[in-house]
Amino acid sequence: MGNQRFKSLDEALSRKPLEIKIHSPKASEFFGVNVFNKRFMAEYLPSDVYDRLVNSMENGHRIEMQDADAIASGMKNWALANGATHYTHWFQPLTGTTAEKHDSFFHISGDGSPVEKFAGSALIQQEPDASSFPSGGLRNTFEARGYTGWDPSSPAFLYEFPSGKTLCIPTIFVSYTGESLDFKSPLLKSLDLIEKAGVEVCNLFDKSVSKVFPTLGIEQEYFLVDAAMFRARPDLVMSGRTLFGHTPAKGQQLEDHYFGSIPHRVISFMVEMEQECWKLGIPLKTRHNEVALNQFECAPLFEGINLAIDHNQLMMDVMQKIAEKHNFAVILHEKPFKGLNGSGKHNNWSLGTNTGKNLLSPGKTPKSNLQFLTFFVNTIKAFHDGADLIRASIASASNDHRLGANEAPPAIMSAFLGSQLDSVLNAIENSGIDQEEDATKSIMKTGISQIPEMMLDNTDRNRTSPFAFTGNKFELRAVGSSANSAFPMTIMNTLVGLQLVEFKKEVDHLMGDGKTRDQAILSILKRYIMESKRIRFEGNGYGDEWVKEAERRGLSNIKTTPRALDVLSDEKWLEKFEKAGVFSKSELHARHEIMLEQYTRKVQIEGRIMEELALSNVIPAVVRYQNELIENVKGQKSLGIEDDYLQPSIDLIKRISKHIAKTKESVSEMNQTRKEANQLTDAREMAIAYCEKVIPSFETIRYHIDKLEMLTDDSAWPLPKYRELLFIR
Ligand code: ADP
Ligand code: MG
Repeated sequence: MGNQRFKSLDEALSRKPLEIKIHSPKASEFFGVNVFNKRFMAEYLPSDVYDRLVNSMENGHRIEMQDADAIASGMKNWALANGATHYTHWFQPLTGTTAEKHDSFFHISGDGSPVEKFAGSALIQQEPDASSFPSGGLRNTFEARGYTGWDPSSPAFLYEFPSGKTLCIPTIFVSYTGESLDFKSPLLKSLDLIEKAGVEVCNLFDKSVSKVFPTLGIEQEYFLVDAAMFRARPDLVMSGRTLFGHTPAKGQQLEDHYFGSIPHRVISFMVEMEQECWKLGIPLKTRHNEVALNQFECAPLFEGINLAIDHNQLMMDVMQKIAEKHNFAVILHEKPFKGLNGSGKHNNWSLGTNTGKNLLSPGKTPKSNLQFLTFFVNTIKAFHDGADLIRASIASASNDHRLGANEAPPAIMSAFLGSQLDSVLNAIENSGIDQEEDATKSIMKTGISQIPEMMLDNTDRNRTSPFAFTGNKFELRAVGSSANSAFPMTIMNTLVGLQLVEFKKEVDHLMGDGKTRDQAILSILKRYIMESKRIRFEGNGYGDEWVKEAERRGLSNIKTTPRALDVLSDEKWLEKFEKAGVFSKSELHARHEIMLEQYTRKVQIEGRIMEELALSNVIPAVVRYQNELIENVKGQKSLGIEDDYLQPSIDLIKRISKHIAKTKESVSEMNQTRKEANQLTDAREMAIAYCEKVIPSFETIRYHIDKLEMLTDDSAWPLPKYRELLFIR
């Protein structure tokens, strides 16, 4: 029968760090070589076409068909010169991963001669066979028509693999009738909203602003596991997390992994991954060990939000591919190991302008501080009003294990501002600012004018808050490590966009009534501060006291996905999002449906693997070991050894029998609950049944299997253990 655990352990232990070719110690020399960026556009496009393309990228102007032909031809020539054979529209369907369908440039022309061809029409639009992507009922399967459409604001790139290269064109993915079937198209729509609303509010302070755009820097946490060990754990392979495994004697309690020295094998992987990313124009900047064993993090320089998200999606793919080469598996699941910290994807979000200003960065003068405060308070108000939506946007079966698990931002949405800003907001709240005749005086009195340019408590970080202000940006930490950030960021942009529209309307109204600009702004901000106060929390978000306090404040604490998603069918939000032009009602309904379905399927998969591993992997191995024990006892007895001495072994045999019996019993229970859940026809009810009826039996099964792990001969245990998976050498 052979023990695959030892085979994989031997293989893992014999690994050496891979020697890799360093391109150049200077990333600046090869950064973006695989991107059809301005440098290559200028080289491969006629100059008037170049100008119009840049204009379209930066200002969203339409591209005419004639230009599309010229651009396609330039792109093709660049791609061919760099060794590409195929092109593909690269998009982000609602599965959460990226999708691609390659076509070769190769073509037989009219006279029968072979040529390389890439027309403007193929650049602009394609029709992949869309019937197998989730659509939440938006696209009837017999229709099965979905279109990908070029997004010129995210440059095309060459994806390299050992035997060639493919030209990838970032695209949106929409149905025949124009509904969005992907993550990117609503994100782009939310950018239109926030740009328009942001500019209007900016113009209250500064007429030179003509563009406002969200910026995003995504910190990505992940685990690495040796590939041989990974393959020997079917639960990791199929569900992305370990469904069994006793916690090792040494976990993260010594806190010696965070920022620790990076093992050579790991850094060798990181270096190669970074080089690939740099070639693709992904501006990776930081790498370090994270808190848990085998857990790491990387973070890029921030970019415009659309590009930042494309880059994060691309990077997740690059990571997997480079990891394979280094005999690692990258684990992006939010909670792959029980008892160890989970992984998130911190979304650092801010707003930039065409004048180079960060709107969430306090300024030098009282005037710029008032502008800062305006955007700051509006963001908090938007977050407060839409907290349930933000919660829904980060909900998934895998993130449920992380939120509220006492080491990740809890499922309760709250905002951390830092003591300085917290006291400025308190001062405004307690001031008579809305009564005051002279706004300048109020500005002085409340400390607005003293908000320092660099926040002093920038370093006084509260790491337990799901939404923390970190000096010049907000950090949404509750996003899961495996998620596509586009959905939470679309919600975020829309909430803030809608809020800014409302704010501007209110300011206009008060100014129409004769208030000065500053008076109007301050009195509205004061009201927003009061209305959103309950969402602000400066304390420990992981503590039990916070759960009670939050309840007292009336904040939601929705722990599981199926119920957290309910808000996506809330008529009030459906109306608002439709009006905002970001999601039509049916699009948001479809997303709700898809997220429920995905939840159910993921739990279903876990249930199946759990059953299979328990019954056909673990129990047979344990029974073999138990038989050895029985033989041993019988043998000892035949030698006349006293019963007293045999009792401990007999007790062990009994305990094993008990846990085996309990495991089998709970597997049957789980199967029963699954059967019942599968009878349900409503997606929400089915997801709730999986969540509330099926998942509890996972805990019981795991409890008994983990007990068996401790009772069974180490060499007889069929799965790599935590201590083997988690100590990379
Ligand atoms: P920490 O771990 O302390 O949160 P990191 O350096 O790991 O800090 O990550 C901070 C992230 O915030 C980086 O990706 C960085 O690019 C991003 N960031 C910095 N300024 C902005 C900004 N104005 N808008 C969006 N993201 C930003
Ligand atoms: Mg961070």
